Amino acid sequence: MSRIFDEDNAFGLGTRAVHAGQRPDPTTGAIMTPVYQTSTYAQEGIGRNKGYEYARGKNPTREALERNVASLEGGTYGFAFGSGMGALDSVMKLFKAGDHFVCAENLYGGTPRLFERILVNFGLRFSYVDCREPQAIADAVTPATRAIIVETPTNPLMRLTDLAAAAEIAKRASAFLIVDNTFATPVFQRPFEFGADIVYHSSTKYLNGHSDMVGGIVVVRDDALAERLQFILNAAGAVPGPMDAWLALRGTKTLHLRMAAHDANGRKVADWLAGRLGEERVFYPGLRSHPQHELACRQMSGFGGMVSVDVRSRQNTDRVLAGLRVFTLAESLGGVESLVCHPATMTHASVPAERRAALGIGDGLVRFSVGVEDASDLLNDLDAAFRGV
Ligand SMILES: *Cc1c(COP(=O)(O)O)cnc(C)c1O
Repeated sequence: MSRIFDEDNAFGLGTRAVHAGQRPDPTTGAIMTPVYQTSTYAQEGIGRNKGYEYARGKNPTREALERNVASLEGGTYGFAFGSGMGALDSVMKLFKAGDHFVCAENLYGGTPRLFERILVNFGLRFSYVDCREPQAIADAVTPATRAIIVETPTNPLMRLTDLAAAAEIAKRASAFLIVDNTFATPVFQRPFEFGADIVYHSSTKYLNGHSDMVGGIVVVRDDALAERLQFILNAAGAVPGPMDAWLALRGTKTLHLRMAAHDANGRKVADWLAGRLGEERVFYPGLRSHPQHELACRQMSGFGGMVSVDVRSRQNTDRVLAGLRVFTLAESLGGVESLVCHPATMTHASVPAERRAALGIGDGLVRFSVGVEDASDLLNDLDAAFRGV
C-alpha cells in the first residue's frame, strides 16, 4: 500500500503523470526512481528498520508506481499486482462465501472465467446484467450483494455504464462499486469522481503502454479498505517484480500524451470505418451514432483508441486480417503499436459460444487497438485491407 503525496494534488494531470509519487532518490539524487532489485533490507537492530523489511510487502520502485497511479485516478492509496487478473483476484479476497456480486455481462473475458471457474468454488455468487440499463443493475441487487463490478467502455462492444447511477445503486445497497478503468484510463475517465469505491486496471495495457510487461493496479480512497487490501497484498503475495513496476512507471510518464494520440487516431479510424461500412457497424463511443454517445460525453473526456467493427462474416474477417500490414494480429491492447484482434477466437474464446452470440461477439467482429503511428499510414492500411469487403 502506498499513500499518495498529498502535495501532488496541486498539479494538473500531465504534471502528475510525470512526477506524482516520485522524488529524487535520497541517497544519490537520481532523478528516475531506481529499480530496487532486492528481496530484503538490512535492519539496524531488532524492530529498527527504514520502513522496509521484505519486498513482498513493500518495494520502493513499486511504491512510486502505486503513488503515481493513485494520484492520476484521484484516489489515495495504490496497490500494484503481477497482472490485472491478479489485482482483481486480490480485490475479491475482501469477500467471503455467500457474498453476491452484480456484474456487467460483457466484462473482459478473463474476468467471468475467474469468477465462474474459480471463485464460485469458494462460495461467491455472480449475476450478469446489461449494465447499460441502471434499472437492470438495481433489479439484480439482493440482500447478499456486496459489490457491483463494471467495466466501461466494455471490451469489445464499447458499451457504457452510467457510473454515477451505478454508484448510487451501490450506495443504497451498502455495496461497493468496483470499476475496471483499463480502457478509458484516468486521462479520460476518473470513476472516483462519480462515486466508485475501488478502481482497478490491467496496467499491461494503456498505463504501461509499450507492450513490454504484464501488471495490475488497484486504487482506493478509504483508509480502512486500504488496510484490508494491504493485508491481502502481503498475505496472498500477487505482487509484481521491481523491473515491471519500473517499466509501468516509465509508461505512465507519457500517459497523457499517448492517450491524446490514441484518441485522435481512434476517432479517425472510427470515422473511416463508419464511412466505409456504415456507422451502425462501428462500435466507438466517440461516434455521434453510438447509442450512448451522450453518456460518453458526460463521463469521459476522450474516447481513446479502441474501435470494433462488424464485418458480418468469418470470411470477411479473414480477408481483412490478411490484408493488414501496420496493424498486427495479436491479443492485448493499449500499446503504442496498432493491433487487431478477433474477439470470438482470441480474447473471448473462454466465453461459452451461446453467451458470446447473445452478447453480439460474432465471427465477424474485429477489434482494433489503434496505436500512435501516423494516421495516414493506418488509414491506408485499412483501405488496402477492406478492399473487396
Ligand atoms: C487485459 C485486461 C484485463 C486482464 O489484465 P491482465 O493484465 O491481462 O491480467 C482486465 N480487464 C481488461 C479490460 C483488460 O483489457
